[in-house]
Parts: sequence; C-alpha cells; structure tokens
Amino acid sequence: MLPDPTKLTVSTLDLPLTRKKLESLEHLVVVVPKTGRGIQWKAIPQAEALKKLERRNRAPGAIPSAQTRLGNKAQTLISLVRVDSSSSTFELQTQARKALAHVLGFNPASLALLVSGYDDDRTNAVAGAFTIAAMAAITTMPSAKSKQPKAARLKRLHLVGAGEIDIERLRAEQRGNQLARWLTSLPPNQLDAAGYRKRVEALAKEQGWDMKFLNRSALQKRGAGAFLAVARADENAGIVHLRYRPGDKKAAPDLALVGKGICFDTGGTNVKPAQYMLNMHDDMQGSAVALGTLLALSELGSDMAVDCWLAITENLISRDSYKQNEIVTALNGTTIEIMHTDAEGRMVLADTLSLAAAEQPAVMIDYATLTGSCVSALTTRYSGAFTNRDDLNPLLIDAGNASGERVWPFPMDDDFEESLRSNIADTLQCRIDGGGDHILAARFLQKFCDDKPWIHFDLSAGRNKGGLGAIPTDVSGFGVRMTLNLLLEQGLLEKVSQT
Ligand SMILES: [Zn+2]
Repeated sequence: MLPDPTKLTVSTLDLPLTRKKLESLEHLVVVVPKTGRGIQWKAIPQAEALKKLERRNRAPGAIPSAQTRLGNKAQTLISLVRVDSSSSTFELQTQARKALAHVLGFNPASLALLVSGYDDDRTNAVAGAFTIAAMAAITTMPSAKSKQPKAARLKRLHLVGAGEIDIERLRAEQRGNQLARWLTSLPPNQLDAAGYRKRVEALAKEQGWDMKFLNRSALQKRGAGAFLAVARADENAGIVHLRYRPGDKKAAPDLALVGKGICFDTGGTNVKPAQYMLNMHDDMQGSAVALGTLLALSELGSDMAVDCWLAITENLISRDSYKQNEIVTALNGTTIEIMHTDAEGRMVLADTLSLAAAEQPAVMIDYATLTGSCVSALTTRYSGAFTNRDDLNPLLIDAGNASGERVWPFPMDDDFEESLRSNIADTLQCRIDGGGDHILAARFLQKFCDDKPWIHFDLSAGRNKGGLGAIPTDVSGFGVRMTLNLLLEQGLLEKVSQT
C-alpha cells in the first residue's frame, strides 16, 4: 500500500585503494573536474589507460567519458566521469543521474565512488549528488505488470576518501521524495479519495501523527463552500489534517504544509480535451509533496511542530457539478464568482488555507500543480514561488539553488487585484481572458491566508520528460528537498519571526 523505503547502505572507504579493496568492488566510479591540476591521478586505478581512452574513444561530453576493467578477479569496472567544478547543485545532480543510468545498466550490487580534484565543500557536494541520484535510481515505482520488473541489485555505496555527507538527512529526503513520486504515479482508480485517505492513515499510524479527516458533511458545517463546490461529485472527498508534535502536544504549529490533492481532474463542466486530461491523476502531487515533506521532517525527528493539510477530491462531471457564474461562499466568508471549473485547485486550497491559518501557524507553505501559465512562464524545469512577505524571495531562490530543486519568484503587487474584480461577488475565481493566471491564482489564494506569512509553490516542475536533476522518472516529487533546505539551511522560521 505504501512503498518500502529504499535500502542503500552508504559507507566510507579510505584511500588508498589497495588491491584487496578493489577485489571487493564490482564497479568504481571516478569523478574528477573537466580541467584542473588538483586531481590525484596516482590514487585512481588505471588512470593512464582511462585518460588514453578518453582522448581516443569518446565523444566530448559523454557520460562516462571513459571506461575500463581491472584485470583482477572481480573484473572491477572503472568509469571516469567529468563534472565541472563550477557546476550548480542542479547540474551536479543531473550529471550524477546520467552517470548512474549508465552504470546501473551493468546492474552492480555494490558501487564505489571516488571523487578527486575538488575543494572539500565541492567534494561533499559531488558525493551528496551521487548518493541522492543512486537512491533515486533504485527506487521502485508502482507497476501493474503481471511480471513485476526486477529490482536493481544495488545495495551498497562506498564513498572513497570523500568528506562528510549527512546520510540520515539524504535518506529522510529520499523517503519523502519517494513517497511523493509513488503516490503521484498510482493510477486514479487506486489513488481515488478513499484510497488516498487509507494510505495516509497507514502512514500516520506508522509515524505516530494525529490524523483528522473532515468529510463533506463536516466541511458543510464549517461552511467550506469553495472546497465543496469542487467536491460535489465525489462522496469520498475531504480535507486531511495531520499533526506532528515532537514536544508539547497542544503547541501551535511552527509550520503548516498545505497541498492540492485532486486525485483526478476532468476539468469539470468546462471539460478538458483528451490530450490535456491525460496524466491528470498527477493533479494531487502538491498534497503528496506536502506529505513527503512532513515524512522527511518526522523521520529526522525535527523539533518543529508541523501541521499538514491535504485537500483531497476528484474534479468530476455530474448533474451537480459546479458551473460558470455560480457564486459560492468560502469558509472565511469570501464570496467567489466561478469563471472556469478547471480552476478547481485554487478553490480547494482556499478553504484548506483558511483552516490551516486558524491554527495560528508561524508560517504556511502550500504546494499545487496549479496553472498552465506557470509552465508557460518557466517550462517544467523550474517551479514558481509566491509569497505575501517580499523579504522571503531571496531565501526561496537560495533554497532552490542549494537543493537542486529550482524555483523562481513572481510578483504579487496589489494592482493585479484589478483583474480579479467581480461585479457581483467579492472576487472572481480567475479570468478566462488575459495572461498571468499563475499570478492571479496566487493573488486569489492570498485572500484565504489571514495575512499569516505564506509561501505558495506552483509546481510546474512536477513532471518533466526524462527526469529532472537527480530524479530519473518523469514525475519528480519536486519540493521536498527544497523545503528541507528552506527550513534547515536558510532559517525560514527565524527569518519569518523577524519580518
Ligand atoms: Zn483543473
């Protein structure tokens, strides 16, 4: 029902690589800069042969750039990979993914990584990127084939002479990312609202989180008209509220994670054509990223009090489905004029943000595969970032760059509000003409945050053909690693308390 955590044992191996050590290695990957004098060629087995092969055989930029075998009993395969020392984290992860795709083609049970020619920080960054990519590469995804695909043999990664990397951190992030990708990849008849709820219940039990489920009648009582407008045709719809409290059980949350969980998006009455409805089971990825982030924090034993809110429903077509020009009243009393039933994400998030804000979190972060216009603006390589605290924008960019999950902020100035003016209600839901729907969506969501510090990620990078950064699958689970960086390296909570 839930994926087994990826098991990759990571250990360090000291230099020099003696014959005896090499005899125990099936495959050695050597990573060095493209140029530079700092490379310890003497420590690299078959260095001269590799350099010669590199000059003769390979096209420039090939990954690996050369490959040879040792004449030992293990026939140790040695692959040389060149990675520029000025590469960004994203580039490092991309190179690592490509190198490992090649290496894992040989299906080794163990792999050693020797990094040479970089300063200490960079050596750790390279080792970290390869470790992340190795974990991601052997992660299994749901398969419904009668003959299940064989799991990769890789069980052990040796870091040779590498400095320090925080394995527990990488493992926790991997587990969060894996969960997000796994849930997003499940077909919509398995991960419908009821199936999703069951899986979250199992995880909450495993992790010791409190869980509440607000079903449609509970939401009716709360007046959550925005969520319920979308959920009319899904009797299993509802909002999940998870609480992680490492200390005081009654503590107000430091952090509220909120996610869009549209288990299938037909577009509703404004139905999508087939080519745009394909893969619309992905439309719950935001909630899976929120859940994966909570899982990573929980696995790390974070001392933050965290709430996690998942807005779960399908956007279906039925006799009751909501229509253009309906007026609905959201939980916080805002009246909304419906303009397009395919803009359902902002509707379900509106009430979920109101519920999250009522618990008085220090900061709220939401994730949603929300708009096509964010994809038009950024492609599927970056995700969009929005916040009602301008000061946070540099932190968001830094967290994206440092984690390899790149985000770019968009403006949210007040004058955008003119585009959401309705003649009959407090606000339009969206516009069906004009551009910048990703900005208008963020302006719309802001109305439900009760002016709490809030960050919104429009996950345009949730699906990128052929993989993205360290992640080899089209579904990226984008956001878990970036959020952990935002919280643990960029000091989001401290920054928020100062603004
Ligand atoms: Zn939609």
